[in-house]
Amino acid sequence: MSPSDVPLPKVLAIDDSELIHRLLRVRLQYEQLELHGSTKAEDGLRLARELRPDVILLDIEMEGMDGFHVLQVLKSDIDLQDIPVIFISATASMEDRVRALDLGAIDFVGKPFEVVELKARVRSALRVQHLVKMLAQRAQVDGLTGLWNRTYFDRRLLQEVSEATRHNRSVSLVMCDVDGFKRLNDERGHPFGDMVLERVAKILQGGRGSDVACRYGGEEFGIILPNTAAIEAIEVAERYRRAMEQEIWAMAPGMVITSSFGVAEFRNLGADAGVNDLVQAADGALYRAKLNGRNRVEAAMATHRTA
Ligand code: GH3
Ligand code: MG
Ligand code: MG
Ligand code: MG
Repeated sequence: MSPSDVPLPKVLAIDDSELIHRLLRVRLQYEQLELHGSTKAEDGLRLARELRPDVILLDIEMEGMDGFHVLQVLKSDIDLQDIPVIFISATASMEDRVRALDLGAIDFVGKPFEVVELKARVRSALRVQHLVKMLAQRAQVDGLTGLWNRTYFDRRLLQEVSEATRHNRSVSLVMCDVDGFKRLNDERGHPFGDMVLERVAKILQGGRGSDVACRYGGEEFGIILPNTAAIEAIEVAERYRRAMEQEIWAMAPGMVITSSFGVAEFRNLGADAGVNDLVQAADGALYRAKLNGRNRVEAAMATHRTA
């Protein structure tokens, strides 16, 4: 997975009228979006959590839990509160409009609605959502390499380690550090060093779709490998090591640039290990790779085995 994958926007309609859903399906079928629907508030909330839609169209008048209530639940959920909500209502009283906007709805459309107008409002909400997402994403992407940055790495590693623990699966971490990079910078200049980092990033992105390559800092990279045991992670690192070593540098013919790698698997660290222990273990292995001559892969010893 890389920061540049952009899927079709998802629109979720929550409205107790089956007619509205049919209308939306027919009239939005050629739009560049993925339409989902629910006729029940509770199902709608569940779908919202599952799908993480880009826009929610929300009916006010529904049996049981009404639209205002749904909106309050959405706005109090940290994972859902940034999704723009467009209210759709038959009783377009001024009080309802004000209340909806005050509760955090982005827009309001009266029923029966003109589909052309609704489409324009959906597009407008998608634009806002796109900007919000872009800003949020930009804050997690490294400007030079386009890889995920350290902020993202920390968050994602924590998430992957908890997932792995919950489902009793393995997760491994590969730390990579370019060898003799300071000298390279000194001898060839910083722009060349930057170009090397961009190329290293390309190489480290060439793994499985589920692998998460991040720039940890400077010339250090961290690759999170969900569902991967140490033995496979070592192979992955070895492949990257070879790719680095074999890379041809057009601007410096004959030059060989290498990297050292440290590998650790979370399950090998013992029952009370935390995410920091995983980083430390991979870092320790990387340090040994440097001590043992660089351009090599070292793995953290299995101190425990809890699976
Ligand atoms: P070792 O083989 O032990 O890893 O030696 P090294 O020289 O690679 O290690 P060191 O950590 O001493 O040097 C890292 C250098 O990376 C220092 C810093 O100037 C450079 N650096 C950090 N970030 C960037 C960057 O964004 N661009 C460039 N060009 N250089 C950077
Ligand atoms: Mg209704
Ligand atoms: Mg370093
Ligand atoms: Mg280095």
